[in-house]
Amino acid sequence: MTTPQSWDARAKAATFFGFTDLPSINERGTVIITHGEGPYIIDTEGRRYLDANSGLWNIVAGFDHEGLTRAAQEQYARFPGYHAFFGRMSDQAVLLSEKLVEISPFESGKVFYTNSGSEANDTMVKMLWFMHAAEGNPQKRKIITRKNAYHGVTAISASMTGKPYNSVFGLPLDGFVHLSCPHYWREGRDGETEAEFTARMGAELEEVIAREGADTIAGFFAEPIMGAGGVIPPSDGYFDTIIPILRKHGIPVISDEVICGLGRTGEMWGCETYGFTPDVIISSKALTAGFFPMGAIILGPEISDRLQRATDAIEEFPHGFTASGHPVGCAIALKAIEVIEGGLLDNVRRLTPAFEAGLQRLSQMDNIGEWRGKGLMGALEAVKDKATKTPFDGSLSVSERIANTCTDHGLICRPLGQSIVLAPPFIATDAHLEEMFDKLEAALKKVFSEVA
Ligand code: PMP
Repeated sequence: MTTPQSWDARAKAATFFGFTDLPSINERGTVIITHGEGPYIIDTEGRRYLDANSGLWNIVAGFDHEGLTRAAQEQYARFPGYHAFFGRMSDQAVLLSEKLVEISPFESGKVFYTNSGSEANDTMVKMLWFMHAAEGNPQKRKIITRKNAYHGVTAISASMTGKPYNSVFGLPLDGFVHLSCPHYWREGRDGETEAEFTARMGAELEEVIAREGADTIAGFFAEPIMGAGGVIPPSDGYFDTIIPILRKHGIPVISDEVICGLGRTGEMWGCETYGFTPDVIISSKALTAGFFPMGAIILGPEISDRLQRATDAIEEFPHGFTASGHPVGCAIALKAIEVIEGGLLDNVRRLTPAFEAGLQRLSQMDNIGEWRGKGLMGALEAVKDKATKTPFDGSLSVSERIANTCTDHGLICRPLGQSIVLAPPFIATDAHLEEMFDKLEAALKKVFSEVA
């Protein structure tokens, strides 16, 4: 008689894993999820975990939201799928576009749909290239982003991402320029004040524009708070310093709000948190509360007019995805926005002081160098020496050990570099936050006692 294989063995036999540390899953095994309940996931072994990362920042309304499920079911029953080509599209796509423009910081605008955040950034770069070429500036192709930024994994969006791991693909492509990461605590020089640091970031941008030539630059993309870089809010005054420089040189500003957008920072948009109005907003993740793959490009009035003129000239913008504006995704997104506007955003604001207080409390530990955060996104950075900010030796895999210890105790949180990242769902309660911080504190104490 053959023994039935475990879910773990079957997952490993059948899956080519992405963004997964193979030695770690070989040692510890996979987690195969069968159910969700509020902010908890339940696996094939019946283990229950509080997911303090909302999946990948996206499952903001919990894993069993009835209203979202009903919105999907009702749309499946009416009309289960369509594209947005040839002037045909679902009514839901029209309703969602109107809604997204209404809740955006723009007076007017237009929306284009994709299936993911990566595709939205990729599409936006193509839109810029298309627009500049139609305006007689085909040389305006360079894209400016920042080191440590995350904008996705397609060839263009991975080139925008400022992470060294993309070198295994021979990326970035030419013409993608990365500024310094505006992380004062880590990148500030000895004796440099935060204001001096921010001024240096501005001066660097001016130098890069002068070096590359303003007439070769297509656009600037930034996350208001870097997410997958380890939750890095910009230094004080950063956007106030760089946006006028970009404006002076006529460089379009794109706010990648895939994580920050729709409430995560405590405002509807991360750009509102930092007081700037971009030309374009990129949205995904919370857009469908993780119930459907979807991205949206929200074009502000100026860029949408310029793109319209460029398209009128050749009669067609030759780009789109089969599932762009999928009616089920749009119906879910309409509901997700209703739920966010109808209470979840207020809950993010209500929970923020307790969330920050928890991060601050744990940052008192000898091996936590810094806490960072805004709204319901936060991080704690582990250090070997607090005074000198010396990181732990990479071979100790400290943040992975902390996250693994948390997993063993029913808490999912994410190691990113030497940081532990927390992004609880917008439906979280005070009790969920307490459970999260208690379990994390126990894991931090255990791992630091082993490595310090
Ligand atoms: N931009 C940002 C800021 C992101 O955080 C992500 C995903 N984490 C992306 C783009 C890419 O989105 P996706 O994974 O849906 O392609």
